[in-house]
Amino acid sequence: MLQTLSIRTRSRNESRDVTAEVEHVVRASGVTNGICYLYVPHTTAGVAINEHADPDVMADVEEALRRLVPHHAGYQHAEGNADAHIKAVMVGASQSVPIENGRLALGTWQGIFFCEFDGPRERKLRVKIIAG
Ligand code: ZN
Repeated sequence: MLQTLSIRTRSRNESRDVTAEVEHVVRASGVTNGICYLYVPHTTAGVAINEHADPDVMADVEEALRRLVPHHAGYQHAEGNADAHIKAVMVGASQSVPIENGRLALGTWQGIFFCEFDGPRERKLRVKIIAG
């Protein structure tokens, strides 16, 4: 089954912790062992797995990406959001997490983040649960 989580981002750059929503989809599926595949169908957003115990970590990641990829830096793409496309390439459009005993088998400190780079917008995160 393929499900879609709707995410309304609130700022231009935002790392939204979606771990609880994804975990809910896993539990509702009834699958006890398998893979949870996450896919972002956008060109200016991504999905990352990293620490969610300390929110400063993803704030630091956002700041590092902002320094590496400035908003305006003589890009060819005329839409004004070339930085968002570049950050999306760096972060990536998909992740997969093992499912064990009906739960996401994330590490102790890990969480799943929807990474917005050109918000605020209505976004989608596709979730595919694969049993096996
Ligand atoms: Zn663009």
